[in-house]
Formats: sequence, structure tokens, C-alpha cells
Amino acid sequence: MTEGDGGVKFYRRGDAPEGALQGETVGVIGYGNLGRSMALNLRDSGVDVRVGNIDDPYRAVAARDGFEPVPIADVAAACDILYLLIPDEVMDDVYRDEVAPGLAAGNAMCFASGYALAYGLVPPPPEVDVLLLAPRMLGEEVRHTYESGDGFFTYVSVEQDATGRAWQRLLGLADAVGSLRKGAMQLSADKEATLDLLIEQTVGPYLGTAIQLAFQLGADAGLPPEALVLEMYMSGEMARTFQTFAEEGFYRSTTWHGAVAQYGGFLRTLSLDREAMARHFAETLEDIRSGGFAKRFHDEKQAGYPTLQAIAGITSGDDPMTAAEQRVRDALG
Ligand code: NDP
Repeated sequence: MTEGDGGVKFYRRGDAPEGALQGETVGVIGYGNLGRSMALNLRDSGVDVRVGNIDDPYRAVAARDGFEPVPIADVAAACDILYLLIPDEVMDDVYRDEVAPGLAAGNAMCFASGYALAYGLVPPPPEVDVLLLAPRMLGEEVRHTYESGDGFFTYVSVEQDATGRAWQRLLGLADAVGSLRKGAMQLSADKEATLDLLIEQTVGPYLGTAIQLAFQLGADAGLPPEALVLEMYMSGEMARTFQTFAEEGFYRSTTWHGAVAQYGGFLRTLSLDREAMARHFAETLEDIRSGGFAKRFHDEKQAGYPTLQAIAGITSGDDPMTAAEQRVRDALG
């Protein structure tokens, strides 16, 4: 473990005790985007893995991958460590109906997102370890980066140490899924959930709105829609710019851009209404911290997800950006 100047703790490969998961069975609950990658990585690292999934197409994939998938309740009752890899919004129902009845003293529950713990969707009994192993990587990439040897970054935390072995188990898991090759940072489930929602609900909407408005304005001004979507994301230049933030630093990477871009971009940034943005961000943070957002999302679920259906209607309908993207793909393959 390395403790940075700011007091933050980082973990790398050597921090996992030898044989940390010896004699333990790990139940992967949910063989979806992240569950499949985690299960395959754990198995390739020599861990005894069982898979529990509802009877859906993912279950067939698990069988094709050589697992013997069984109902979630069976895995929950049979394994020592349970990695809950089902969507956050169903965590309360699945925990109550299928996981809790099978839990025994000394088991461990591990979450890939702090949401269920932060907002009380799952009330862990005092006699089980509660762990957070939250990747900062898309599900499929968790597998690809394991295979390439690069690994992926995670946030880790022991939320409850009932056995005295919670850290050993957590670091053993983090190592076996391939995360410690890149590194893990200690962060509580509550802070992980706040961070995740904050960036999704501040940077995300502003970036998305900027892209939509620039497309509309540019297209109205006679710029080819194909060029606009290429410029903003399809060429990969913007993704590479974000990559340079990681490699060179957010400010230090400025020198990658020419003088015209630096002069224009920096001065336009200064002319934005930063106070209004900061106010909006602060309100958003307060709403996340108070549980207001989680409460509204819970109500959305109870009502049968009307807003999510409306969003799906908008994003799957006809729109000029999607049409322009398709014309670029048709032309360039
Ligand atoms: P998925 O949407 O891929 O779902 C995982 C599995 O859960 C699927 O088999 C799904 O079946 C099943 N499932 C859905 N509803 C139920 C239910 N009511 N009862 C039982 N099983 C159900 O999940 P993700 O892999 O995307 O996310 C899992 C966890 O990982 C979440 O906590 C998420 O926040 C976290 N995470 C995910 C990342 C990602 O890249 N996906 C990255 C980092 C963290 P079906 O689809 O057929 O309904």
C-alpha cells in the first residue's frame, strides 16, 4: 500500500496477500456486462467461481463460456464470497428475495458500485463482510485489459469487517480480477456513489448539451453535418484529447494544441457564466448527497420507468446527428 501526500491509499499487485482466496468459493451474481468479464478473469486467475443468473440470454452465454449457471438463490446459499453484479436498480429486490435468505455468518458481499450501500437499498447483516470493488472501466474492457495484461483502475473499500479477513478477501479479489496491475484507490461506498453521480450529472450533461448545440448551430450555418460529428467525436481526435489529460495532465496537455486553439479555447472558457454553472453543480451535489436524486429514481422505478421509456423513445428515434453518423459510416465503413 502506498499512501499519497493527500492521505489517499493506493494498492498494487504486491499488496494482495499470497493465497488470499485460498479455500473460498466466489459466486458471481449476474452474468451481464461486468459479470461475464469478472467471472472469466477470476476463473483464469485460478479462483473457484460459480455463476448465478436469471433465466435469460446471459445465462446461455455463461453456459457457452463453460460455467454451470444456476439460479441466484442457489449461488447465494453455496458460496463464501458473493460479487453482486446486477443492475443497481434491482439490487434491493434481488438482495431481499434471493441473496439474504442464503447468507451465512462469515460470508462476504462485494459490490461493484457504492449506490446500493450509500442509499440503503441493501441492509447488510452484521455477521458478513461488506466490500466495494468498483471498476472504472466498461464491462467488456475489464476482460480485454485482463487479457492484455494492462489491468484496470478500481475503487476499493471495506465497509464492514465481520471476519477480520475482509481486507485480505478484498485485495485477493482485486488482484484476481486483474485490477491491481493498474492500481486501486481506497474510497468509501458513500463517496464512490457521490462521485459517480456527480460527474454523470455535471460534466455529462454539459458536454452532451455542448455537442448538441454546436451541431445544431453548425448545421444551420451550413457546415456539413458529417463534418460536425467527425470533428466532435467520430474521428477519435476528441477521445485522444481526453487521453492526453490522463497522460500529460489536464493543464499540461495544453501544449499539444496549437496557438490558435489555445488562445481561442482559453479565452472562450473565461467568458462562460462560470458562477451560474458552479451554482447548478452545487445544487446537483446537494440533491445527490441528500438522497433526493436516489428517492426520485426509486419513485421512477415504482412507476414503471416512464422517464426512461421517454428517453429511449428520443434516443432511438430519427434525428439529424444519428443520420449524419450513419452517412459517415456508410461512406467510410
Ligand atoms: P447488466 O445490465 O449487464 O445486468 C447484469 C445481469 O443482471 C443481467 O443478466 C441482467 O439480466 C440481470 N438482471 C437484471 N434484472 C434482474 C433482476 N431483477 N433479477 C436478477 N437479475 C437481473 O449489469 P452491469 O454489468 O452493467 O452492472 C452490474 C453492476 O456493475 C452494477 O452495480 C453497476 O453499477 C456496476 N458497474 C458496471 C459497469 C459496466 O461497465 N457495465 C462498470 C462499473 C460498475 P437482463 O439484462 O436479462 O435483465
